[in-house]
Amino acid sequence: MEKKEAVRVELISKGQFYPEPFNFSTVSMVEMDTGHQDILASELNIQKNIQFDLLLRELILFPPEWSSKQRTEYIDTLFTGDRIYLLLAARINGYGELYEAAATCPQCGHEKHLIDLTQLETNEVSIKSVSEGQNVFRFELEERETKSIEKTHGFSVRHIDFKFLSTQETRKYANEVLRRKREQQDENPITTRLAFSIVGVEGQTMENYSERFKFVKKLKPFITRRLLQYINNNEPMVKSNYDFICANCKNNFKADFGLEIVQLFFDFA
Ligand SMILES: [Zn+2]
Repeated sequence: MEKKEAVRVELISKGQFYPEPFNFSTVSMVEMDTGHQDILASELNIQKNIQFDLLLRELILFPPEWSSKQRTEYIDTLFTGDRIYLLLAARINGYGELYEAAATCPQCGHEKHLIDLTQLETNEVSIKSVSEGQNVFRFELEERETKSIEKTHGFSVRHIDFKFLSTQETRKYANEVLRRKREQQDENPITTRLAFSIVGVEGQTMENYSERFKFVKKLKPFITRRLLQYINNNEPMVKSNYDFICANCKNNFKADFGLEIVQLFFDFA
């Protein structure tokens, strides 16, 4: 039987900044059924943390000529925000839009409130890439930042180039932090994250991971803080702040409930 489109999602990134042939703006998915739920519930999948990759593999209607390898590669290439957005659409299609989110009402202290997942806002990319369509963006340094780098590194830098992380890179970054923790080294979560995101300085690519790591580690925190904020503010992402109406006292309040995909598929209203 031919699979039928049930959900069409326009990616937060609109498919921009992906390499060909992955640069399409909308993704079609099939209806979620119990077989798909089995993928999420499988102990083995959960242990390997591949349940959501496998789910997307089954749900997405790929161009029929794509090989199995290309399909896997596409899912690995998705920006984290686009991936979350697709999973969110699947959740809404399979289980409905109501979700019980955790946030404390400032008036009465009540902690669980129903929200409508279709109302979540997204952070779209409004900055221009260094060259058309490519996943490389420029962070301009302020004068005091350039001066600071001259002091700490001994050379002059006026801008830092970075990219948005793919699903695979995000996974590598998280694994690297875990590995360091396991080996009882400093986890360096900020340095590690930025060493993955940075592409180069002054238009010069830094190919080597350890070179990028060393570069970031020596930066003064006021620079890395602003850089990280700049990346976060501009990367395609689903926002998890929400205008709540308290389930207990009907008070209106704004809060961030920390969207977790795992929770989305297990906490049902
Ligand atoms: Zn309340």
